[in-house]
Amino acid sequence: MSQLKTLILGGGIGGIVASQVLKKALGKDMHVAVIDKDDKHHFASSYPLMLIGERTPESITRNLSNLEKKDIEFIHAEIKGIDPMKKQVKTDKGTISGDYMIISLGAEYNLKSLPGFSRYAYNIYDFAELSLVSQILPRFQEGHIVLFISSLPFKCPPAPYENIFLLDQFFRQKGLRSRVDLTLITPEPSPEPFAGPLVGQSIRKMLADRHINLITQAKVLSLEPGKLILDHTTIKGDLFLGIPSHQTSLVLRESDLVDSTGWVLVDMYTLETVYPNVYAIGDATAIKLPVIGADAPKAGIFANYQAEVVSRNIALKVRGKRPRYKYKGKGACIMNTGFGRSRYSTVHYYRKPSPFITLMRPTHSSYWGKIIFEKYWLNRWI
Ligand SMILES: Cc1cc2nc3c(=O)[nH]c(=O)nc-3n(C[C@H](O)[C@H](O)[C@H](O)COP(=O)(O)OP(=O)(O)OC[C@H]3O[C@@H](n4cnc5c(N)ncnc54)[C@H](O)[C@@H]3O)c2cc1C
Repeated sequence: MSQLKTLILGGGIGGIVASQVLKKALGKDMHVAVIDKDDKHHFASSYPLMLIGERTPESITRNLSNLEKKDIEFIHAEIKGIDPMKKQVKTDKGTISGDYMIISLGAEYNLKSLPGFSRYAYNIYDFAELSLVSQILPRFQEGHIVLFISSLPFKCPPAPYENIFLLDQFFRQKGLRSRVDLTLITPEPSPEPFAGPLVGQSIRKMLADRHINLITQAKVLSLEPGKLILDHTTIKGDLFLGIPSHQTSLVLRESDLVDSTGWVLVDMYTLETVYPNVYAIGDATAIKLPVIGADAPKAGIFANYQAEVVSRNIALKVRGKRPRYKYKGKGACIMNTGFGRSRYSTVHYYRKPSPFITLMRPTHSSYWGKIIFEKYWLNRWI
């Protein structure tokens, strides 16, 4: 029997985990190929620390060719077309076919949807622009820093709050906080609305205690020199740090895998698409939360768990067994709140009759938990 082949589209969190779980389960019986247009993986969970200079760009970057050491093929190519029926992709390096396909192409940014973004703001969700901001910040002595979220959904709902808490820490430690105003602007009705009202209230209080301004339910319309235009007001600032609108990769939007909102339709438990042996995981997916009815938040921890479910089910199928693993909407988050403390929370979104959320107060042990997790993840997976 010729060797089976799985194509993994995207070498981010989901793709890195899926490739290795699958390879470990099936060994020589499955050729696993990861395709990515970038030959490097940047660990986004560490971006907020990179913003304030506590991580260098190199320390959170890994070569995707490291996957080859684990007998996984890495193909550095841009995917230009997907034929899910044939389990085939067209890339700038040629056409590649497989027997199974796992799509983990993440979310890309649409700066054009906000006039003035690319001219007057820095995209702090982009590795290269974040590197620039981390060089500018040490020279910022006084003024108003405005961190804004362009639109919903955006990945890792706690990340903007983590960034602003770390900016507060950064300027307090430099003795400049009284000269630097910080404002966070979000279209959310309250911080992290899916995590429930208790989380929202606790974040509001932490922001107020640290004298960080918060504007919720904001409709961000455009940027002009020195100002951010909202539908009901204008916010003047000296440095604008933005989170742009998110969308799926163009190659997915051009396929029939996506729903009317442009994200890939999957079974919420098995991550199967409508095509046999084609799965999608991570930020690219459209999952409607049962009870809440809203779109599931996007985060690496969900991509990681979904990758494990999909790979284990493919392994069972290949062995002629019934796939039995299910993704249950569980995840955990550690949000760095600054000054060596982090807030640990867990979610179980699919639980009925209502989602289950636990929330701890910020502690030093959770801070170290996040640091250990970062080291573990980068050493374990890439
Ligand atoms: C600032 C920040 C902080 C975060 N913090 C956390 C955190 O603490 N915890 C957490 O759980 N999550 C966090 N996240 C979110 C997390 O990084 C994402 O949810 C996660 O990376 C999603 O994994 P994915 O595999 O779906 O997509 P990605 O990791 O984005 O991978 C997608 C890959 O597909 C590739 N790709 C896209 N289109 C193409 C194409 N056409 N051809 C070839 N390759 C393509 C990309 O180059 C990319 O490598 C954070 C994100 C940010 C930005």
